[in-house]
Order: sequence, then C-alpha cells, then structure tokens
Amino acid sequence: MSDIFIWSEIEELRKKIKEYDLAYYRDSNSKISDYEYDQLFKKLKDLEKQYPEFKESDSPTEKITSDISNEKSAVIPHKKRMYSLGNTYSMEELKAALNRISKENDSVLPELICELKIDGFSINLYYEDGNLIYASTRGDGFEGEDVTQNIKELKSIPQKINFKGKIEIRGEIFLPIAAFEKINKLREKNGETLFANPRNVAAGSIKLKDSKLFAERNLTATMYTIGIAEGINIKSQEELFEFLKNNGFSISNFSQKVNSFEEIKNYCDKWEKQRSELSFEIDGVVIKVNSFELQEKIGYTAKNPKWAFAYKFKAEEKYTKLLGATFQVGRTGAITPVAHLQPVFISGSTVSRATLHNSDEIKRLDLHLNDTVKIIKSGEIIPKIIEVDKTKRVPNSEKVRFPKVCPSCGSVLEREPEGVIYYCNNINCPAQLKRKVEHFVSRDTMDIDGLGESLVSKLIDKKLIEKIEDIYNLDYQKIVSLDKLAEKSVENLKIAIEKSKNQPLHKVLFGLGIRFVGAKTSKILADYFKSIDRIKNATYEELLDIEEIGEKIAESVVNFFKSETNIQTLEKLKEVGVKFEYIESEKTKISGKTFLITGTLKNYKRNEIKNMIERLGGKILSSVSKNLDFLIVGEKPGSKLSKAQKIPSIKIINEEEFKELVD
Ligand code: NAD
Repeated sequence: MSDIFIWSEIEELRKKIKEYDLAYYRDSNSKISDYEYDQLFKKLKDLEKQYPEFKESDSPTEKITSDISNEKSAVIPHKKRMYSLGNTYSMEELKAALNRISKENDSVLPELICELKIDGFSINLYYEDGNLIYASTRGDGFEGEDVTQNIKELKSIPQKINFKGKIEIRGEIFLPIAAFEKINKLREKNGETLFANPRNVAAGSIKLKDSKLFAERNLTATMYTIGIAEGINIKSQEELFEFLKNNGFSISNFSQKVNSFEEIKNYCDKWEKQRSELSFEIDGVVIKVNSFELQEKIGYTAKNPKWAFAYKFKAEEKYTKLLGATFQVGRTGAITPVAHLQPVFISGSTVSRATLHNSDEIKRLDLHLNDTVKIIKSGEIIPKIIEVDKTKRVPNSEKVRFPKVCPSCGSVLEREPEGVIYYCNNINCPAQLKRKVEHFVSRDTMDIDGLGESLVSKLIDKKLIEKIEDIYNLDYQKIVSLDKLAEKSVENLKIAIEKSKNQPLHKVLFGLGIRFVGAKTSKILADYFKSIDRIKNATYEELLDIEEIGEKIAESVVNFFKSETNIQTLEKLKEVGVKFEYIESEKTKISGKTFLITGTLKNYKRNEIKNMIERLGGKILSSVSKNLDFLIVGEKPGSKLSKAQKIPSIKIINEEEFKELVD
C-alpha cells in the first residue's frame, strides 16, 4: 500500500474514533458497540505501530478524550494523573501483556489482583482533614469536571472519613441493573426515550444540574484506586482495599489475589459465564500488579498504566433470519419497531425478537424481509440487529418501511422534535387509552377518586370508555353489575366525577397528557395564557416567548392541538361541563421562601418534604448561603447546621416547627 493510502486510512480511523469518543464521553451515547469501537481502536493502534512515521500526539491512542461538558464547566486539576486502561479480548494478548510485566520483575510473574471491570463512570474524590472537599470526573486525565454537588447525594460515598491526611480516592459510579430497569420503565411511562444501558445512564446522570434528579437515579459507587496520598504509606492494592473499607468506602467483594496465568484465566472464564448473575453490569476483568512499588517501577504509557490490563468480554453475536417487523404503539404513543427473528440461542437465552430502535436505524440497516441479520445482545440486555449480510439477500424481497400513520388508530405520526422517535398524538388512540385515562383521573389531574386502574381497565375492555370524554357519560347501572360495586361506591364515584369538572385549568391541561407538558409546565402555561382556548390557539413563536418554554415543549403543544380528535375531545369536555377555569395561585405561608434540610427526618422522606415545599410555593436551595430562609434540622445534622448558625438571617427549625409553618 502506498504511503498516501495508509495515511488516509489512519486519518479516517482517527476521525471516526474521535466522533464516537465525543458521543460517548460528552453525550453519554454509544453510536456503535464497545466491541466494534475497540476493534477500530486496535486497528488504528496497530497501524500506528507499523508506521511510526504517522504517529501523532493528537491521536486518540495517545490521549484520553475529555468528558468535560463544555468550556463553561467548572474544572478541577487532578493532583495525580488519572489514566485509562489498555484492553484486549484475547487470552493470547493478555498472556503477552503478563510476560511484559514479568520482564520488569526478574522474569517472574508478580503477585496480581483480578477485579471485576464495572461498566460505569470514573470518579475522583478528594479528602482533606477527613472531609470530602470535592469530586470530579476523569476529564482528560489531567483535570476533570466538578461534580461535587451530585456526588454528595450518594450514600455509598462517605462525606467524612477517619483518615485525616490529603488523599484522592478513585473508583466507579454505576447503576445497578434493577435501578436501570426502573428508570427505563418510568421513562417509558412518561413518553421519554429509553436509555440504552446502565453505563450511559451513569455517565449522563453525573453531570445533571439538578442534584435532586441525580439522587432519584439511585446510582452507587465502588472504589479501587488512589491518586495522591499524603500522611500514609499504602503498599499494595490489597492494603488499599483494607484502607478503603476502614474508611467507609464501598469496595468490590469479588477481587481475588492470583499468582499464575491459569488462575487469571479461570477468574476471567468464571465471570464471563457468571456475569449475568451479578446485580450490576461488568464488561470484563481488570488485572493489576499488587505491589505499589512494582507498579511505579513498571510505569505508564501516554494513556495507560503498564502494570494493569483489562480483559474484556465480547458480546456474543449470531446470524439469524428476519421474519418480519411490527410497529408497536407504546403506552405513551411512541412507535417502536420490533424485528421478528427465527429463534436463535444467544448469551444464555433464546431470542426471537430484537429492537430496531427507530426509523433512522431501519434506514441505516436497509432491512428487507428474509434478510440474514447479525444480532448482538449488547450489554446483555436488549438484543439488536447490528448488520445485514447483503450477499444472502433474497431477490425482490420486500423492504421494511417505517409507517407514516399510527398502526392502532391511523392518525398521522409526528416526529419527536430534534429526536428520532415517532409518536401518535391522538388522545383517544386505543393503544394508549388505558394509560391516558389512568393519567386523566389521577390525583394530580382531575382527581377522580374511585376510578382506579382495575375499574378503568374493565370500563375500557367493555367499551364503556372509548374516549376520554366518555368518563362524563358513564352508564352507572352497568358499572354496578360489572364491578359488583355497592350502590354507595357508585354514588361516590358519580360525585367525584361531577366534582372533577371544577378542577382548575392547569390540572385539566396536565390531564390531557400532552407530551413534555408535566404538572409544572401546565402551571406555567395556565398562568401565562389563563384560558384553554388561548393555549389551544397559541403559535409556536408565542409559546417560545415564555421564558421556561423551550422548542421541544412548544412544538409538542402545537402538534397536540393540531389533531382533529384532540380538539373534538376538548370541545366534548366543555360540553359535559368541565370548566377549565383559571384560578390565580393562592399564596401560602411559605410562598417564595427558601429551604434546606440537614440530618435525618422522622416523619418525612427527603423527596416527600422537598416535593411538599415546592408544591406550597417554596424553593429548595443546594447549599447554605445568605439567600436561605429556613434550615430544617433532623437527627445527626451535617455541616450545613454549623454554617447556617453563622448567618443570623437563617431561621433554624425542627420538624415540628416546619409542620406548624405549613399547617
Ligand atoms: P475503559 O472503560 O475500557 O477502562 C478504564 C476504566 O475502567 C477506568 O477509567 C475505570 O473507570 C474503569 N474500571 C472499572 N472497574 C475497574 C477496576 N476494577 N479497576 C480499574 N478500573 C476500572 O477505558 P475508558 O478510557 O474509560 O474507555 C474506553 C472504552 O470505552 C473503550 O474500550 C470502549 O469499550 C468504550 N467506548 C465506547 C465507545 C462507543 O461508541 N461504544 C466510544 C468510546 C469508548
């Protein structure tokens, strides 16, 4: 190959890898699987080794791509550099790496530690005088983004430790699989796009501006490395784990000391087989030299320690046949394409369906019926088609096309603003009706007591409710026989339905279930327009004039009121007597006041009290400052109390005093 071809291949690889890096580190998004990425990376590394004349310090092989969000982010320099890890998917290469390590130790394999490689996000914690001073991301290895506020929400990270010197503690923030599934379920319910895997949630969450939202994600942490350590002489990885445990850090229970290649291989094989039994995701095993003295002697490359190595597990791939594709209407109206496959056994289970994600993905794959497709169980969670073997395409086979109208009700589909998901916006779409009705009658919207999930389900199944407005024309005689309800309960239901007609405008608006229009946005829209007709007729530009409304919400509101069926429902609701009345927000005793909580409360969970304060017009601050009005103090208060005591304008109250304030 001529030099120019090699050079352009290298440049092409660098460009691609940089693009994937940016998506992965800054936007927490994987455009290709880790395995595919690692293969490209290896190809680039091999070419650079073979043709050193094309080596460049700017190549992704020579430096860590920074995860710092943007130039406005607060950054903190690391006291000691943070590194990545060299990796391989091959036992042969692992053996070669171990041989290189042995060479540095008089040709004897030194004592090593095998650890599980948790698939999360690197974190650096700095402690001084026993206090957590700050937390930062890995960044480019030299400096990271300040994420202290969020990290302080994690129970698995102690804010105080016994050790009083200066120390950087490093490890991984990750999301257990159960928490991942819970988040995705909720996102599905709220009509939001689903996260692809727990690693991307951890990476996306760590930089959230809203610490409350971060806390709700239920991330956890495990620690395994140190940076600088002044005032202590830890001699090995084994001793480090002891130190971490004694100082209240959470450490892995699965690490193992090993002395031979066979032991390492057994450890890797065991966890490759058993990884699906763990409650969190791992993507391999990390093998490290135990002695810190030897680690320093062996040293580092520009990007990785030479004394540690990752053996990564390859996601299993199989070929099978595409039998068909269906388009499901989710309970939120999102259209999800699903591939139907000839059943195939992969990563421990038989798979006959795979996600096709969205219309762009179908276009990218250029799928035809009966195609031979390669599937992968990425992250062991959702099988997906990664490519089509076009050499095996059956002539004249039908192309898979994304529908233009809803497969359930025939309404024209709308593409999510700036996104890839298509939605059916029809409020009465049969595929979404149960969820729409459940939401419409719930406490925060029309508040119809007595119309619970099971009754709603029966009423829809028996076709007593086919549209939202049918709630106001129920045949109560039929309900008595249907649900064996006592006359009294039916009477109460009737009263609750009647009463709901007086719900204020913002509650009814929230009840309509317009995408991205939650309780808070409904209130903002109601306060601004003060009438349902003005909201209905608002243009995209008018909506954007409202400070808190962005393009996504504006487009969604306009799309909702473009639908003929939605307008009909609105008119019908008016006809049956729903008032859509705008009520000026009432002032509570704590409207506009600011609050902060410290210590453990007896009668409220943190989220409960925070929600209550916000509902009553108060605001939660993130730290003690002159802007704080009330500090609510529970048992074992933290440093916020002593800080607040120094500012005379802050009222320090206990739970009982808070209760009196809001009663
Ligand atoms: P890495 O994730 O492969 O390995 C280093 C990291 O492993 C450390 O920084 C640490 O956070 C983590 N780790 C977990 N358990 C550990 C333990 N017990 N001991 C030490 N470290 C442990 O390296 P990286 O630089 O963070 O990322 C590179 C990798 O990210 C690639 O190999 C690829 O798999 C993935 N990636 C994927 C894409 C994509 O588009 N799919 C893009 C970029 C990177």
